[in-house]
Amino acid sequence: MSRLPEIFKLNTFELPRRAGEMKEYELDIELLEKVGVELIAVQVGEIIEVDARLESVTEGVLLSAQIYAVATGECIRCLDPVEIEIDKRIQELYLYEQKPERKKHAPVVDDLDIEDELLMDGDFMDLEVPIRDSICLSLPNNPLCSDDCLGLCPECGVKWAELPQDHAHEVIDARWADLAGLAEEAPDFKN
Ligand SMILES: [Zn+2]
Ligand SMILES: [Zn+2]
Repeated sequence: MSRLPEIFKLNTFELPRRAGEMKEYELDIELLEKVGVELIAVQVGEIIEVDARLESVTEGVLLSAQIYAVATGECIRCLDPVEIEIDKRIQELYLYEQKPERKKHAPVVDDLDIEDELLMDGDFMDLEVPIRDSICLSLPNNPLCSDDCLGLCPECGVKWAELPQDHAHEVIDARWADLAGLAEEAPDFKN
């Protein structure tokens, strides 16, 4: 999936694999590639803060985490910078890796479900998919500086909000443009 997944990996070796055991982790993930949607994202070099609580359960490790980050982008109407604070809670169950023989006997229909399952990779838990999903889902595809942003005048590119109410560009009809040209030449006739 990602070319640089290591930064999202959490080593859980300190968490005893006994149901009911619990451990808390605070992570600052400095991004090597942006996380978000096309027009607004947590940018490269920015930090995603993760306050995670891991709990050993019979079938794996349950992750509960609060995710904080700030996404930045541009208003699609006026191109002003837009900033969105992300503060989301996620909860995911990471299953212990299944032994190959168990997988072999599993009915074929289960394969679809297995694709979506999060698995422990030994002691490691890859947080990328749930973090990426929760951030992407909390960002708008069409970011706006405000819901009633009026955007820009298409003629001059100035923000409508900064222009007088009667702002308009005269559209000069071709016939009148000719007359305007004659008027400019008029002084020459006098000489
Ligand atoms: Zn705007
Ligand atoms: Zn204008």
